[in-house]
Amino acid sequence: MGSPDPDEAIAGNFVGAPDPYDYATYNLLSHVAFMLACDPERMRLLVVEDEHKLAGVLKRGLEEHGYAVDLAYDGEDGLAMATTTPYDLIVLDVMLPKLDGLAMCQQLRAQHSHTPVLMLTARDAVDDRVAGLDSGADDYLTKPFAFRELLARTRALLRREGRSKDPVLRVADLEIDTVSHEVRRAGKPVELTTKEYAILEYFARNPNRVLTRTQIAEHVWDYDFVSMSNVIDVYIGYLRRKLGDDGENRLLRTIRGTGYQLRAAPA
Ligand code: CA
Repeated sequence: MGSPDPDEAIAGNFVGAPDPYDYATYNLLSHVAFMLACDPERMRLLVVEDEHKLAGVLKRGLEEHGYAVDLAYDGEDGLAMATTTPYDLIVLDVMLPKLDGLAMCQQLRAQHSHTPVLMLTARDAVDDRVAGLDSGADDYLTKPFAFRELLARTRALLRREGRSKDPVLRVADLEIDTVSHEVRRAGKPVELTTKEYAILEYFARNPNRVLTRTQIAEHVWDYDFVSMSNVIDVYIGYLRRKLGDDGENRLLRTIRGTGYQLRAAPA
């Protein structure tokens, strides 16, 4: 018996695909997915569309342009996902099973979600567009539409969301430049790694809000990285050390059993 080959051990656990070619493909794809997931600048989109073919086309197209995309095929699932994951933008079809796009958007806004919504309306009717905007949508596209136009409207909505207005986020004595990624605490520069920066920026965009480990993992990594709670704790530790954030008045507070919170002002 030689020493176990780690690749073989993993391949052996890969249920249903004993073929080494399948395993190699799987391995390559997971590697690519991991590389893409590691880009903290990646915007996370939710597409709610019950026509599976169109949903698939939108997902692939948006992913090719660098967005992370999740799909929901009805309004109930869409609402559940939109309330548990901090998306940067939602592409929302109006005619949906279970809960239509207008009702879903209204419920989202009633929960004080400000996530930009780009609504897909089926008919070129003024009433539909007015109803869409009244329900809280930020923009709409009439089907059928050119994918280029969807992309352009997506970019415009993400810009409007504030990325390019004032690039510097200020929370307590922290200054976070979202363009240059320079961070200062009480005027002194703080050197952060890409991942540490991404986590801090996420907190700074949600001051005083308790963020769960899952939310942090989903925002900074990707949907598949939800079981990384101990990794999050390690990164929070790094961040605190670099920010000199300790003692009673720390900015990054541990909320026992829930997650973490960046306080807008030290107590
Ligand atoms: Ca539909």
